[in-house]
Amino acid sequence: MKQLSTNRRDFISTTVSAGVAAGLAQGGFFSAPTYANENKKLGFALVGLGGLATNQIAPGLLTSAHCKLTAIVTGTPEKEKKWADKYGIGRDHIYNYESFDKIASDDSVDVIYIVLPNSMHAEYTIRAAKAGKHVLCEKPMANTAADCRDMIAACKAADRKLAVGYRCQYEPLHLKSMEMAHNKELGAIKMIEAGFGFKIGDPTQWRLKKKLAGGGALMDVGIYALQACRCLLREEPTMITAQETKTDAVKFAEVDESITWLMKFPSGVLAYCSTSYNFNGLNRFNAFTENGFIRMDPAYSYTNNRMETSKGKVELPQQDQFATEMDEFAKCILENKPSKVAGEEGLKDLLAIEAIYKSMETRTTVTVQS
Ligand code: NAD
Repeated sequence: MKQLSTNRRDFISTTVSAGVAAGLAQGGFFSAPTYANENKKLGFALVGLGGLATNQIAPGLLTSAHCKLTAIVTGTPEKEKKWADKYGIGRDHIYNYESFDKIASDDSVDVIYIVLPNSMHAEYTIRAAKAGKHVLCEKPMANTAADCRDMIAACKAADRKLAVGYRCQYEPLHLKSMEMAHNKELGAIKMIEAGFGFKIGDPTQWRLKKKLAGGGALMDVGIYALQACRCLLREEPTMITAQETKTDAVKFAEVDESITWLMKFPSGVLAYCSTSYNFNGLNRFNAFTENGFIRMDPAYSYTNNRMETSKGKVELPQQDQFATEMDEFAKCILENKPSKVAGEEGLKDLLAIEAIYKSMETRTTVTVQS
């Protein structure tokens, strides 16, 4: 049955179509990232061939400078031939969840990119590390901070790199915002307001099941607002107060629908954030500084984000966020450098998320664990 309400991909892509058409007409929308000294392409295996893998990551691999799709892992046999034909993947490089561990002897695979429901990230990251592969894991890194620690430990024990799919940390306007914030170009940040939400469709999807998703809007998209605050400030929140509202107790029986939370940072900055699965249009941050403001709205879309400061609009060439994220990870592996979105970064978000849920449940202000 066709869904009437907005699905997640449609929402994140809402501002895309006109811009893409215009960009393609000019001979290509995205500028591919380039690295002067490296020609080698690392082989990527995608685990979970759902919406994100199909519509964003696989196309990103086609335009990336240092990565190529060499293997797939899927539990849906019908997808095997389709993907094999489309991306030229040989029979020997197609796995299902039972045969996954055989990927250890697949020399075409350097990196395993986990694009599964949240609760499966920990298991497949640990299995991938044991198979001797580097791991790129989608956000949220896991359902719990404890799982994040196990994932970090497994990758460390296997001497493999682990990174989390925080694509916004490669988005040019986010990078510019962070640079302006860190250089105090408009003075120090005094307060931040941030939020991300969308109206979720299909009531049967895994995102609404606690066991698979770990939580609701907060785990899925609220995490972007949380990340934006942490990255702008380069600080970790210490105290969190959160409140939830649930207006549809049936659809959101297992996970959070809408949450507003307040974070206090060591510098004294307060950040008030919100997230929802119940309406569209919330996709922004606004950092109020001593002498002005830095804001993005939309902030977390795949393309066509907009940035404005108290000095005026900021426009920069766009890049495919997924191609850039994968290329940067490949560069870290090729040059043996740490990733700025390593597992520890995912863990910090989960520690804050756990404090948000605890505050909601206990109706108290909660200290963020470290
Ligand atoms: P999806 O539902 O479209 O795809 C999930 C895939 O997992 C499907 O191929 C499905 O068959 C497979 N799967 C395996 N076991 C499953 C099970 N028990 N239940 C349900 N599906 C199962 O989801 P998606 O949107 O591709 O999201 C996948 C991951 O990527 C999630 O962790 C999500 O948070 C993340 N994500 C990140 C971004 C981003 O911008 N970085 C965007 C969307 C999704």
